[in-house]
Amino acid sequence: MSTVLVIGASRGIGLELVRQCLAAGDKVVATVRGEAAGAALRQLGAHVVSLDVAQLHSVAGLAWQLDGWQFDQVFYAAGVFGPRTQGMQPPSEEEFKNVMATNVLGPMQVLPQLLDNLAPGARIGLLSSRMGSMSLRQNPAGWLYRASKAALNSVSRDIALALDGQALCVALHPGWVRTDMGGSEADIDVQTSVAGLRQVLAGLRPQHSGHFYNYDGERLPW
Ligand code: NDP
Repeated sequence: MSTVLVIGASRGIGLELVRQCLAAGDKVVATVRGEAAGAALRQLGAHVVSLDVAQLHSVAGLAWQLDGWQFDQVFYAAGVFGPRTQGMQPPSEEEFKNVMATNVLGPMQVLPQLLDNLAPGARIGLLSSRMGSMSLRQNPAGWLYRASKAALNSVSRDIALALDGQALCVALHPGWVRTDMGGSEADIDVQTSVAGLRQVLAGLRPQHSGHFYNYDGERLPW
């Protein structure tokens, strides 16, 4: 049995992570930013913590809410896509700030708050996207989201280096998944994606830390 923290658990991949971890007998702490989602997660059996990763005052309240918890696994699933551009349409300042605050500033604020809550050898998975891979890139669609996930990939590597083996950290691509973000035409269902993500995190060894993995375990290039 593990103790698992799921950041961004109200719906989609985060919610399914909570469901599968609880079904496996894990203790789960789930973060949400809405009271309705919190009530539903409590009914499932999760301990619920309030967190908006894009609001610094909310992140500042995380440490006391997690006082005493020690996590074996942490999934950072909170994310936004932003404008669905096809070419070089410039994002507005507001769009830029929202996407970067959620996908990049969020992990840079939240992860340092968790250092006292990591069990020895804890595993951290940051939900990135292969759209953020520079070397796999074949078109510029959604360039703001791509830029944010490329930055998140950099952050994931720095976290792995900073933790220096005391805990492991990887960037994870969940596949193209049928969620609000992925849409109904996506390749795989959320159950398949999450089963894979959980297996990848559980199977991590120190030599895997600081790298980028698909939900099926394939190592992806940056
Ligand atoms: P969804 O859009 O279905 O869910 C996004 C989740 O992020 C929601 O729980 C949402 O909470 C939360 N969230 C958004 N902004 C914030 C915030 N400021 N603070 C706290 N929580 C926030 O997305 P998915 O489940 O599909 O995606 C999860 C992760 O996987 C994302 O990082 C995404 O980029 C990544 N990913 C998804 C793919 C896909 O095909 N679905 C493909 C590649 C990567 P709320 O309900 O409050 O808005």
